[in-house]
Amino acid sequence: MAFYDLVTRHMAIEKLVTRAGPEGLERKYYRIRPARWYGGIVTADCVGCGLLCRFCWVSDVVMNHPCDVGTFYTPRRVAESLISLAKKCKLDLLRLSGGEPTIGKQHLLELLENLDGKGYRFIVETNGIPIAYDEGYAENLAKYNFIHVRVSLKGCNEEEFAFLTGAKPEGFKLQLKALEKLLDAKVSCHPSVMASFSTKKSLQSLVERIGQISLKLAEEIEIEELILYPHVVQRLRKYGIKYYTGYAPERVPPEQV
Ligand code: SF4
Repeated sequence: MAFYDLVTRHMAIEKLVTRAGPEGLERKYYRIRPARWYGGIVTADCVGCGLLCRFCWVSDVVMNHPCDVGTFYTPRRVAESLISLAKKCKLDLLRLSGGEPTIGKQHLLELLENLDGKGYRFIVETNGIPIAYDEGYAENLAKYNFIHVRVSLKGCNEEEFAFLTGAKPEGFKLQLKALEKLLDAKVSCHPSVMASFSTKKSLQSLVERIGQISLKLAEEIEIEELILYPHVVQRLRKYGIKYYTGYAPERVPPEQV
């Protein structure tokens, strides 16, 4: 199997899902919605990711045809939409999800600028890759003390990473590098790991590996488990990928929500 280069792919996707506009860099989104996660959070789902995780909950059309879905938003328009929905739903937590939110750095930074001082907490859910390869990204994020970055690791080591994403195995090191950079820049962050495909032994070795970066981060590892949406199950079958754990969408345990 030929693995793709994930930095090249992130940059190529960026060209498809961002564009320069009169108010700054615009980014494609396909949905803005209230979601049940984190006890209630207003979420803008962006289009486009440089990885192709086999277990990704994003639909095949959003994942494979970023040019055909979504609408370009200015940073100001996303901020206003998030705030307006948060007020309506009486929620004070916001996030970007869907695709990879750190693609289109200027867009994300201007969005954060628009949210600064408005009294919301903001979660950046990321695969960490752009933070790792773009010098200065973590420092740029450090300016915004109302954010928290959740770096979602794809498996527990290089081999699992390649198996789950189809990307070159060394990409896993970039995910860990992102955590190091965020830590160095003093950005609030924690790692999560998709552990449904991992043995206890490989999970333990990940905990030890992250412990070498920071014992605190190792203690804070969040375990992510597969949500068995029908299209995800179908995709896993197509790739012949077996999992140890997973939940039906309506049976996700409260501690995972
Ligand atoms: S990094 Fe996240 S958004 Fe991108 S393909 Fe993987 S699970 Fe989906």
